[in-house]
Amino acid sequence: MKIPMLDLSEQYQSLRYEIINSLDAVLLSSTFILGDHVKRLEQDVASLSNALFGVGVANGSDALHISLQACGVKPGDEVITTPFTFFATAGAIVRAGAKPVFVDIDPVTFNIDPTKIEQAITKNTRAIIPVHLYGQATDMNPILEIARKYDLYVVDDAAQAIGAEYKGKKVGELGHTTCFSFFPTKNLGAYGDGGMIVTKDSKIAEKMRIIRVHGSKPKYYHQVLGYNSRLDELQAAVLNIKLQHLARWNMLRREKATAYTKLLNEKLSNFIVTPTEVEGNYHVFHQYTIRVEKRDELQRFLQKNGVSTMVYYPVPLHLQPAFQELGYTEGDFLNSEKAAKEVLSLPMFPELKLEQQKYIVDTIEKFFSSYFS
Ligand SMILES: *Cc1c(COP(=O)(O)O)cnc(C)c1O
Repeated sequence: MKIPMLDLSEQYQSLRYEIINSLDAVLLSSTFILGDHVKRLEQDVASLSNALFGVGVANGSDALHISLQACGVKPGDEVITTPFTFFATAGAIVRAGAKPVFVDIDPVTFNIDPTKIEQAITKNTRAIIPVHLYGQATDMNPILEIARKYDLYVVDDAAQAIGAEYKGKKVGELGHTTCFSFFPTKNLGAYGDGGMIVTKDSKIAEKMRIIRVHGSKPKYYHQVLGYNSRLDELQAAVLNIKLQHLARWNMLRREKATAYTKLLNEKLSNFIVTPTEVEGNYHVFHQYTIRVEKRDELQRFLQKNGVSTMVYYPVPLHLQPAFQELGYTEGDFLNSEKAAKEVLSLPMFPELKLEQQKYIVDTIEKFFSSYFS
């Protein structure tokens, strides 16, 4: 059996004619930038996340950068975040002119450990970026409390967590702004790049709308230094159709996750740690990520037997060559470093079949029985 990490073909088949018709309507309308499809998507994503304003942008990385700029982050400022995330989280901080300050993760959720944030705050700290990794919300209440106490902005990196919830609240109504990515592999994926920022703050929303069009309002009168970062109509047309299915797709992901956990814990609980959904969270399983000591060997064995897996992420950001100048060394963030050596994400998408999941777990079982015999 051959099982890819992600298979988008069935999803496309089910929406194909609806999508083609909608794309055709955009092409016939000749409105390609910031038209009605983008407006509708901005409203709908804001409302699904209990925010008030949505700002469509070119990608999730720009969503972070524009959020930081709109919150007033400037050269000399520090922004606290996790080292166990995709590069873009900290890349956006540096692009905004600020310095990333890393704080280690909680080894159970893989998200930033709120109990370690306060000791990283200095007089230059301006914002915190919690990342809701793999689709599970960070423990936000202590972070929001710290932010109030020290007058910091909170910019949520929810690139992997659209539709997730935390203690009865939606991801999107927690921080000052929340950033989503519509990269094709995300839970709500475009057919190209795309991103969105949501917020309840009308002033921040207005700033972000200006920044994404070269800082201009009205056109050709430039208030601040912005850039070209817009979501286009074709992508928004696709996303408006897909958005109607997001809640169901997230539910299906959760079902697949439950099935994995049951199968893995029946037979392999001595070798594998399955993901934990913290009480009060609604995890949307962008990834189903296990921990396993013999990770690289297991990954090779699975690949040989037709099962694709991925490591998100093999090198924590404080050890990336691009961030060498920040001066961190190995040993600074032990939980992140250990996670980078042990995590393995298994195939996960709403259309994944139970037989495929059984084959994956059987293959993992084979690996351990041959390894230890
Ligand atoms: C995907 C992702 C991003 C960046 O989104 P793009 O749309 O690819 O720019 C940022 N942070 C995290 C955690 C991501 O997974």
